[in-house]
Amino acid sequence: MSSAVLPTYNRTPFAIESGEGCWVRTSDGRRLLDFGAGIAVNSLGHCHPHLVETLKKQAETLWHTSNLYRIAEGERLAERLTANTFADYVFFTNSGAEALEASIKMARKYHAVSGHPEKYRLITFEGAFHGRTLATIAAGGQAKYLEGFGPATPGFDQVPFADHDAIEAAIGPETAGILIEPVQGEGGIRPLPAKCLKGLRELCDKHGLLLVFDEVQCGMGRTGTLFAYQQSGIMPDILASAKGIGGGFPLGACLATAEAAKGMTAGTHGSTYGGNPLAMAVGNAVLDIILEQGFLDEVQRKALLLNQKLAALKDEFPGIIEEVRGAGLMMGIKCKSGVVNAELAASCLEHGLMVVTAGDNVVRLLPPMIVSDEEIGEAVARIESACRALKQKAA
Ligand SMILES: *Cc1c(COP(=O)(O)O)cnc(C)c1O
Repeated sequence: MSSAVLPTYNRTPFAIESGEGCWVRTSDGRRLLDFGAGIAVNSLGHCHPHLVETLKKQAETLWHTSNLYRIAEGERLAERLTANTFADYVFFTNSGAEALEASIKMARKYHAVSGHPEKYRLITFEGAFHGRTLATIAAGGQAKYLEGFGPATPGFDQVPFADHDAIEAAIGPETAGILIEPVQGEGGIRPLPAKCLKGLRELCDKHGLLLVFDEVQCGMGRTGTLFAYQQSGIMPDILASAKGIGGGFPLGACLATAEAAKGMTAGTHGSTYGGNPLAMAVGNAVLDIILEQGFLDEVQRKALLLNQKLAALKDEFPGIIEEVRGAGLMMGIKCKSGVVNAELAASCLEHGLMVVTAGDNVVRLLPPMIVSDEEIGEAVARIESACRALKQKAA
């Protein structure tokens, strides 16, 4: 398989040719059930009619203007996002990493304009993933992503996951804030308990730090509320969103309170494409669906169904599945040591189900939020077949 595309990914030998809802067709003539959703991006499935219609209409009206001009659809999307969250302001980006870059810069700038330019360091967590730019690989702190790319961008202090004492010990005179995914995605679908999130908020208030949530993967309805933090009873100062927010169109956002954003005045940050009319039209269309009465209740109900079925599967295959965990429609199957997650994922694919691997030997299930009960049943049946095949191979 030769290709002129830089080989930074281990791609499948086949391509995806078309998609509809939770299903795709491949170049080798198969129909697959998609429980990876382009890594939590196709939040409303493939080619959702409302998104297609909106994108077509916008494509015939206006694509791009730059941020030198007012963009009405962007103002409308920002208005709706702030009306439904803690935030007062939104900065639009094209990706998750850029939403994190904006968040990191904002946290530093806040302290700089508050008379504390020395406060620029963020406390981050083991197993975190924040993107692939130079700053975000430093924030994520994973050796495999940092190696060979020169000295890590300074300003990040990593502590063990959910270790309250280690966090408090890491706070120093240069600390600007705490950056965390309320549910770790790439790290292996690890939800942070609500009491830990509360503890982080208290620590931030006590030490004058900003609390920054990376909800690039867990946000936009995936856990059953618009953002995962909304189940914890506390609020961040800054939040990065992306992936599901554009439903497949490249879009990210940095949300913030007016206080946290006070240093971000004209000229301090920018993006040529960020928030262009095409992206803003689709972003509004995604929100139309997610904010529809009852949509998030349905996500919660379907998440419960998926969770119950996976729990039964764990009982059926105790030699393969160690744990089922996650939040909402963001579930992780942690494999027993001796079972490799990539092998289970490959076996799922052979049985017609697309899934994604994650750290900590986990297989991730991130179905489109429009998934039906029947499709959940079908997916779990395919995972069951995949587990059975693995078991037979091992025996
Ligand atoms: C995917 C992801 C990112 C990076 O997003 P990109 O769009 O790939 O830049 C950052 N944080 C989390 C939690 C993610 O899952």
